[in-house]
Amino acid sequence: MLRIVLLFAAAGLVGALLALRKGRSPLVWFMLCAVAPLVIVVIAVLPAMPAPGFTKKCIYCAELIKEEAQLCKHCHKQQPVEMIKVKREDSF
Ligand SMILES: [Zn+2]
Repeated sequence: MLRIVLLFAAAGLVGALLALRKGRSPLVWFMLCAVAPLVIVVIAVLPAMPAPGFTKKCIYCAELIKEEAQLCKHCHKQQPVEMIKVKREDSF
């Protein structure tokens, strides 16, 4: 019994990690994958979403790249330099 619980928890963990890397909610995907481990396949094929502080969209080819990237790994174009990073909450 304990083995099965551990197996499902591991499936949830894998799903949460995949979700995190794709900019999706790890908590939601942990629960989904823990209940039905086959859901891992779904999160594995889902396209990634831009995650603030982790990934951004290339303005030239619209592929996801790392936020610190200065050169797009897909189209090899130089990314524009962001002059000032202002948090939304601080602007008002
Ligand atoms: Zn690009």
